[in-house]
Amino acid sequence: MTAALALRALGRPATVVEAGAQERIRPGSRAIFIHSASLMLLEKIHPGLGFELNSYGLTWRTKRTFYRGREIYHRTYPPIPDGVMPRATSLPQIVTERLLYRTCVEAGVEFIWNTPIVSASVSNNRVTLAAATGGSLTAQYVIAADGSRSPVRETAGLRLEGPQTTNAFVIVDTKEDTEQPLPVERVFHYEHPAVDGRNVLFVPFSGHWRVDLQCHPADDPEKFSGVDGARTWLPEVMPEEYASRITWVSTYIFRQAVANNFSDDSRRILLCGEAAHVFAPFGARGLNSGIPDAILAAGAIDCALKSASRSDALTAVDHFAASRRAAALRNRAASNTALRHLTSATITRRAVHRAAAAIAPVFSAAGRWMDSAPYGPVLGEPDADGMQY
Ligand SMILES: Cc1cc2nc3c(=O)[nH]c(=O)nc-3n(C[C@H](O)[C@H](O)[C@H](O)COP(=O)(O)OP(=O)(O)OC[C@H]3O[C@@H](n4cnc5c(N)ncnc54)[C@H](O)[C@@H]3O)c2cc1C
Repeated sequence: MTAALALRALGRPATVVEAGAQERIRPGSRAIFIHSASLMLLEKIHPGLGFELNSYGLTWRTKRTFYRGREIYHRTYPPIPDGVMPRATSLPQIVTERLLYRTCVEAGVEFIWNTPIVSASVSNNRVTLAAATGGSLTAQYVIAADGSRSPVRETAGLRLEGPQTTNAFVIVDTKEDTEQPLPVERVFHYEHPAVDGRNVLFVPFSGHWRVDLQCHPADDPEKFSGVDGARTWLPEVMPEEYASRITWVSTYIFRQAVANNFSDDSRRILLCGEAAHVFAPFGARGLNSGIPDAILAAGAIDCALKSASRSDALTAVDHFAASRRAAALRNRAASNTALRHLTSATITRRAVHRAAAAIAPVFSAAGRWMDSAPYGPVLGEPDADGMQY
């Protein structure tokens, strides 16, 4: 939908072809953490959109980190003045999708629902998409944003490359108690003593809490998953009533994969979002990098359509593919660093964590490092295309 909006902003027609039904409700909160860089990009393609999205979200200003039950880091950011975009906003992905959908309709994007695409092929400078329903569609360019299993990517001869990790994470959403809400703080626990030393992350988002439990390598994740499984451990780490307000439980083993190319040989099919890359969510780099993918893909298509020669058109798409693949590799490296920090159970790494936690009260850099490491390296400068993710 971001790509479609970006195309409309450039005055191009855009059609979204979706396998699901218009009235479907996708489960779970998924991408709750939207960075300001993404809000500003949405603002650019549709003035007002970034600020409106932010108005549905919640911005936490305090973060705390604990090691074996003892606080080792605490920081509160100053309040955000009215009219200023915060560092990030937190809301369920379904709210983001609903707002994007409404904006797309207003901007004149066409939607075709209940149409799973099974293959893409290119001939005579046109892409043909074959649908499972029997029909087909053609276009000069196709942006494949059909998720990690992307049939468009696979039939265009492209593939995701990268390892599956082994550690399991159980992710629970539970509704906030509106009468007696908990403090709006992001809290990370290394080796939480109430759950046999498993790591636990709490992130507030509008009206809810996301609680991530990192299973031990020898755990059977099923034991901790499902609503019944989550009810065995959630009351150990949160007030008891949150166990009766669970809205979603899911278990993940994350893959860290990037497509071998972000466009096909004909440069008529461009990959975006999870069709192009999948990362572990630490550092929130999935949707936040899907947005720049989509905007640059739309820009490349616009440029290709305006090109005086075929070779200029190819160059525009090649630039998109190289730039976004490089960004995806950077994002994967960053989430790898976070994942290694969280999951490597080597004696040395655990000793480093123990030592950093011990000196954190007198050496604040150690506490700061323990606080930030689970999310990967801090953002660098934007790349040559002005993108941070
Ligand atoms: C637990 C969790 C937490 C996360 N947290 C964050 C976060 O805080 N911040 C962040 O930036 N990212 C986060 N992410 C990642 C984020 O959710 C994804 O990056 C994002 O959903 C990818 O969007 P997408 O549009 O590429 O793919 P999807 O959201 O998978 O959408 C693909 C769409 O294509 C449709 N489709 C699939 N196949 C076909 C077909 N054959 N034909 C037609 N349509 C098809 C699907 O129905 C769907 O609508 C998180 C993910 C998870 C699982």
